[in-house]
Amino acid sequence: MNAYRTSLELPHGQLHFPTFLPDATLGVVRNVDSVDLEQCGVEAVVMNTFHLMQRPGSSTITALGGLHTMSGWRRPIITDSGGFQAYSLIRQNSKYGSMNVRGITFQPEGSERKFHLTPEKSIQLQISYGADVVICLDDCTHVDDPLETQQESVKRTIEWARRCKDEFQRLMQQKRIPQEQRPLLFGVIQGGGIHELRKQCADALLEIGFDGFGYGGWPLDSKGQLLTDIVMYTRELVPSGLPMHALGVGHPANIVECARMGYALFDSAMPTRDARHARLYVFTTPDSLPAPGSTEKWFEYLYVNDDKAIKNDGPVSRFCDCLCCSRYSVAYLHHLFKINDGLFLRLATMHNLRFMVQLTERLRDGGRP
Ligand SMILES: [Zn+2]
Repeated sequence: MNAYRTSLELPHGQLHFPTFLPDATLGVVRNVDSVDLEQCGVEAVVMNTFHLMQRPGSSTITALGGLHTMSGWRRPIITDSGGFQAYSLIRQNSKYGSMNVRGITFQPEGSERKFHLTPEKSIQLQISYGADVVICLDDCTHVDDPLETQQESVKRTIEWARRCKDEFQRLMQQKRIPQEQRPLLFGVIQGGGIHELRKQCADALLEIGFDGFGYGGWPLDSKGQLLTDIVMYTRELVPSGLPMHALGVGHPANIVECARMGYALFDSAMPTRDARHARLYVFTTPDSLPAPGSTEKWFEYLYVNDDKAIKNDGPVSRFCDCLCCSRYSVAYLHHLFKINDGLFLRLATMHNLRFMVQLTERLRDGGRP
C-alpha cells in the first residue's frame, strides 16, 4: 500500500516527495544565490513572514512584486505564518509581546515598531508575498507545557484556522486568482504530546478542509531526540493523500525516520548553519540508505576546521557532485575557512544542501513505506 502522494503541483513548479526546503529566513539562503540553489537541486525554499514583515517590510516586498521577483528565486516558496517565531520571542521574554484570542502583538528588542499578527493578517501578508504554500497562523506550544496550555492552544489553533480559511477564500475571490495560480493553504496540527488533543485538532482541521498539514510544535524533546511516537501518530490522523510538512525537522536521521512515516516536506536551518560552522555531511555509501531499524552508520561529519583537513587533497565526499566536491579539495576549503574568505561559506553551504537533496532522492528511490 502506497497511497502517499509522490509529487505536488504548485504555481511556480513541482515538488517531488520527500523534499527538503532550506530556510531562506530573510528572503535569502545565507551565502548562496538562486542559481546556486538550483544547481544543488533545491526544489523550494521556506521564507519567514515574521522576519520579512520587519525587514524589508511588507509594503517594500509588495512594491517589489513579491518574494519571487525580489529574490530572483523562480521555484516554489512556502511562507510560514510567523506564529512560531512570535511565540518563541514571547516565550523567551514576555516583555516582547503578548497573545490573545485576537492574535499576537510583538515588539522585538531594538525595534521601535509594534507588530500585530492576526490570522487574517498572516494570510493577507503571505498572499501579497506571492507564496506557493500559505500556512495558517497557529498557537504554538512546547511539548512540556501543562495540559491547560495544550488545550487552550488546540482550541485557539482551530478557531484561527477557521478564520485563516475564510480570509484565504475571500482573497481568492476578491483577487479573482485562477485555480492553477492559486497557492495552497496548509493547516497546522497542535496538541503537544497528548494523543487525544492531536486527534481533536486534526479532526477539526480536516473538517474545515486544507490542502495539506504541518506538524505543529517543537518536534524534539529536551534532549534533542525526535518525538517519534507523537510525530507518527499525528501523521496517521491525516489521510495519506494529503501531504504533511514536518516543520523544523532537519537532522538527516530524523528526516529518514519521518519520511518513512509518510511526511513529505521538511525544512530546517540546521544544514546551512552546520555548513557555516565547518561541519559538513558525508554519505558513507554510494547510493543506499539502511533498512528501517538498522543501526548502520550511513553518514558522518567532516570537520573542515580540523588539523586533519590541512593536507587532505581529496573532495569532501566521493559520492557528491556539487560544485565544492567536483572542483575543490578539503585542504583548500580548510584554507578558505582559516583566512575567513566568503567563498568557504558558499561552497560549504552548497555541499550540505546538495547532501540534503541527495538524501531525499535516496528516500524517493526506495526508502518509502
Ligand atoms: Zn559536495
